Amino acid sequence: MTDDLKRRVLDVYAGVDAAVAAAAPRCDASGRCCRFEEYGHTLFLSQFEADILLATAPPYAKPVTRAGCPFQVNGLCTARADRPLGCRIYFCDPAYEETGNRITETALVRLKAIADEFDAGWHYAPLYHFLNAADRPLDRPADAPTADAPTGRVPLPLTQEG
Ligand code: SF4
Repeated sequence: MTDDLKRRVLDVYAGVDAAVAAAAPRCDASGRCCRFEEYGHTLFLSQFEADILLATAPPYAKPVTRAGCPFQVNGLCTARADRPLGCRIYFCDPAYEETGNRITETALVRLKAIADEFDAGWHYAPLYHFLNAADRPLDRPADAPTADAPTGRVPLPLTQEG
């Protein structure tokens, strides 16, 4: 992804963030929105969004299933800065549903226009599809041994987002 293309996609994110902030949907901080199967929905995203997410998201175990997002840890998102549009737009507040749908439609029109302009193609699929297809050195099969052995590194304290 070129810097120019990425900047254009991030512009779409900024517009979405502003629209969501203006709508001010209620969030109960239940974390259900990232546990897809339990909550009965699927997070779809474009290749653009997957590339941006995977450039900075923490390592995760493969295979990823449709059940949930591996970046949700203790109810919090560990990939928040570069999360895709669905994560920015989706809230379980019923009073916001129509507004959320409208924000999604507008954002997808903008993303598709960018794909056309850059002749980048359009690939839209569930999150687990992109996570399983990604080839990042630190991601590991789910049955790979975990690092139980001492590493000599000092564990970082867990922090809560406000
Ligand atoms: S990227 Fe973050 S907000 Fe999006 S589904 Fe995963 S944990 Fe939830």
